[in-house]
Amino acid sequence: MNSKDKCEIVRDLSVLYFEKSINEGSQEFVEEHLKDCEDCRKFYKTIESKICNEDEKDKLVTKQFKKIYNHISLLKIALITILVIILIATLMLSSKVRTFSNIVNKSCEKIEYMKTLDNYKITVKTIKKDLQTENILEYSENYYYKDGILKVESGDSIFFYKDDSYNSVKVYHDLKQIDFCNNNFIQQKQGDAIILFSYIKDNYQRYSSTIYSLIFSVREDRYNGIDCYVIRFGNNNNYRDIWVDKEKFITIREVNEDSLSFYNERVFTFEENVVTNDDIDITILESSEYTDYEKNYIENNITKKEFMDIFDSLQWQ
Ligand SMILES: [Zn+2]
Repeated sequence: MNSKDKCEIVRDLSVLYFEKSINEGSQEFVEEHLKDCEDCRKFYKTIESKICNEDEKDKLVTKQFKKIYNHISLLKIALITILVIILIATLMLSSKVRTFSNIVNKSCEKIEYMKTLDNYKITVKTIKKDLQTENILEYSENYYYKDGILKVESGDSIFFYKDDSYNSVKVYHDLKQIDFCNNNFIQQKQGDAIILFSYIKDNYQRYSSTIYSLIFSVREDRYNGIDCYVIRFGNNNNYRDIWVDKEKFITIREVNEDSLSFYNERVFTFEENVVTNDDIDITILESSEYTDYEKNYIENNITKKEFMDIFDSLQWQ
């Protein structure tokens, strides 16, 4: 074999040599030859550096892969985190809605029970503040219900209503006047006064869906020594808080504030079986105290709806 043939063989073996996949004899043959042949040594150096570069390339590719893999892992973690947050938020929201529904359901049950009562007294204390003029208006109303008769004391006025009747009697102390009214609708049925506690019920349908649950919150707090759930509709600047007695499920307080213009508060008390016959006695109007009162007989031909519209506009001013 001449040296040119040897060189060719050695060069043919180069890749296998570096990959260490030639037998020992061939390896020795290659190494022997490289000792004597500078051309082949140079050739091997070139091949070696090429192969090393290939390794580098592989490493580089692996690195890239790792990077992408890391990116994917991060993405996965981010996705899982988002899902977990959504899950927790949904759970919290649905638990909030459940708490709210529970309070409303128990309150509604209580309202239905209260409507069946034949003897109860409700007091409502109202505070209205005009936050711009700082004017404060405070007044109380008392509702006495017994044996189908409702007496309402409101400021200087007293109103008497009888269940399932078209008639009502209105006493205005400040005007020294008594109006005997006959309406074309029944003014009062048993339990009508309980409507005062129905705000929570009225708002239930409006706020019970999950989307709207974002705009109410439920917290626990104390008022006048009573543990309460406080349901807040709206935000901190413009809200209506309903304070529900945690034990009795009766609304005991409502606060409606618009931090820029007004603060309204109503505090309710409800007592069973405290009304006496004297509290609802209409015959007192025949006493000497009322002899100089002007007495009017008024036929009201407005419909109940018209009456309620007027009533509502007065209530929520
Ligand atoms: Zn050679």
